[in-house]
Amino acid sequence: MKKHNFYAGPSILSEYAKEETSKGVKNLDGIGLSVMEISHRSKEFMAIMQETTSLLRELLDVPDSYSVIFLHGGASTQFCMVPYNLLNKKAAYLETGSWAAKAIKEGKFFGEVEVVASSKDSIYNYIPKGWSIPDDADYFHITTNNTIYGTQIKTDLDVNVPLVCDSSSDILSRPMDVSKYGIIYGGAQKNIGPAGVGYAIVRNDILGKVDREIPTMLDYRTHIKAESMFNTPPCVAVYAAMLNMRWLKEQGGVEAAYKRNIEKAALLYDEIDRNKLFKPTVEQEEDRSFMNVTFIMNEEYKDKEAEFMTYASGKGIIGIKGHRSVGGFRASIYNAMPKSGIQVLVDAMKEFESKL
Ligand code: PMP
Repeated sequence: MKKHNFYAGPSILSEYAKEETSKGVKNLDGIGLSVMEISHRSKEFMAIMQETTSLLRELLDVPDSYSVIFLHGGASTQFCMVPYNLLNKKAAYLETGSWAAKAIKEGKFFGEVEVVASSKDSIYNYIPKGWSIPDDADYFHITTNNTIYGTQIKTDLDVNVPLVCDSSSDILSRPMDVSKYGIIYGGAQKNIGPAGVGYAIVRNDILGKVDREIPTMLDYRTHIKAESMFNTPPCVAVYAAMLNMRWLKEQGGVEAAYKRNIEKAALLYDEIDRNKLFKPTVEQEEDRSFMNVTFIMNEEYKDKEAEFMTYASGKGIIGIKGHRSVGGFRASIYNAMPKSGIQVLVDAMKEFESKL
């Protein structure tokens, strides 16, 4: 049976990336060696790292004044790298979920942190509005897409201090005006590639302004200078990311992905709104994520949740269990999820409703 992969991360990747990665793991471009067993300083791997970097640069139209780097340690390491590299005295954060809260916790190791607003009071089911950022903040940190709670900031904010964003779960899902950000960072394991590699897009002039010394591996400048090759990179993950971004480019790039993502999300949200069994967890439409769609069963059908889960898995629908803090369901519909996969879920919701 065909499987429809709605996991939140690691998550669905393009068929092209999977096919080509598996070939490269056996025999990279016919050289008789695996991508797993060649030196990261070999001309073959150097070319892979270069193409991976230029693809991310090209897909997001990154200005020349920014560096694009790939790192180990996931988004979580960068929760601490950001304040290590940028926080002199004070930073401002928007608390829109538990990943944001984890970033805030790390910020506090380095200085004063002002949380300008939080939606924690209501299980993070909305994006707070109407906050203001202190002018003396070294930066303002946001999480553009809240993977667990299904909320998303879908515009590039204009703010009075350098803007830093964790875009782990919506990078490459829509065009971004990179020039509005100081740092865009995340783990790759949603729209870029498999787990094991992270990325950062850094405006070069934002660095070098803190008084403290920074350990080598946690200093963005180390990786910028070494072009992501200061130490051994996660070669296979980088290779798969390159292939997945090649595929995205081939599919018309980020602009085309954005159009598809809007259509895909509308298909699912419309059904959630229509179906008497379900309701969305995010009430305000403008805050609803087009990457992670979270929904629960209406009160009177709550006892049918497990039954629906079993019914859906019988149709090949995998990974729709909501995070334990939200409950219900979460369908992650990243770039590589085709509209036809969402249609299978929508049909299952309709059929299940008609059986009751
Ligand atoms: N931020 C967001 C928005 C995430 O979704 C995740 C992981 N799902 C993380 C941070 C943590 O990423 P990592 O596991 O790469 O540290």
